[in-house]
Amino acid sequence: MNFFSQWKKIAAVAPILIALSVPSVCAAQAHFDGAKAFEYARQFVAIGPRWPTGPGHVKAEAFIRDHFQRAHDQLEEDTFTANTPIGPVPMRNFIVRYPGKKNGVIVLASHYETNYPLRNINFVGANDGAATTGLLMAIGDRLHAATTGGRKLDGYSVWLVFFDGEEAINSWSRSDSTYGSRHLAAKWGRDGMLGQIKAFILADMIGDKDLDIQRETSSTGWLVTIAAQAAKKFGYERYFFQRDMPVEDDHLAFVERGVPSIDVIDLDYGSGNSYHHTAQDTMDKVSAHSLTIVGDVFMEMIRLIDQR
Ligand code: ZN
Repeated sequence: MNFFSQWKKIAAVAPILIALSVPSVCAAQAHFDGAKAFEYARQFVAIGPRWPTGPGHVKAEAFIRDHFQRAHDQLEEDTFTANTPIGPVPMRNFIVRYPGKKNGVIVLASHYETNYPLRNINFVGANDGAATTGLLMAIGDRLHAATTGGRKLDGYSVWLVFFDGEEAINSWSRSDSTYGSRHLAAKWGRDGMLGQIKAFILADMIGDKDLDIQRETSSTGWLVTIAAQAAKKFGYERYFFQRDMPVEDDHLAFVERGVPSIDVIDLDYGSGNSYHHTAQDTMDKVSAHSLTIVGDVFMEMIRLIDQR
């Protein structure tokens, strides 16, 4: 909107100025709407804790379902039963598909639930689960706008995946964690879908006001390079990859199956990571600016992968 009002003003004065002014005005307009992602996260957090088997989880499912059904996006609900230390637990991943002209898929993923062991401390996971859910929803709005009326994205199809059961039910191990991603990677391995994935991009804990995203060491090299290249375009270098860190997360089931994958994660949340998995993980620790930064980088990564 700013773009057009400025445009009119300039146009009335001197046409030559238009040619000079347009590039910078366009660049300013191109930023991702982190405030919108933040608002989705705020609403999601207002549901309360979202641990598997809990009442908030059902509300969280409804929040995601209603959002994408209202927009008439291609929504799939992937239900399964996880074998956990407390017995079988029903879980539900959500997959939203936006078709592209190129053959192949870019997956953007995050998890949405909170920790079962933290069900008694009002843990709402503002940064851990909610911020990235909001981010994916706001990205979905952009993709929706580009695919209405049967249109297709210029590049690859983009699928949003909202994983259930990333957190441990009892205590973290490879068998007690990442239930949703392990389930979906295995399923897509069986039905051949895995072979269509050009890139798997995971977002985790990137709403942190004090954003410092680590270079996750299991991530695929060329995807890390593309993320750094995307960050550089916006002058965001200082927020990315100042430190190396191995992180076990929802990308591993895809890495292990040979899918190019990256975990975009800031596992340095509060002094000494003190907000992580505590009742301190609330919306006041999250910022729209951080969501703008990661949103900008994700949209640019899609563009770069499309061109690859
Ligand atoms: Zn967590």
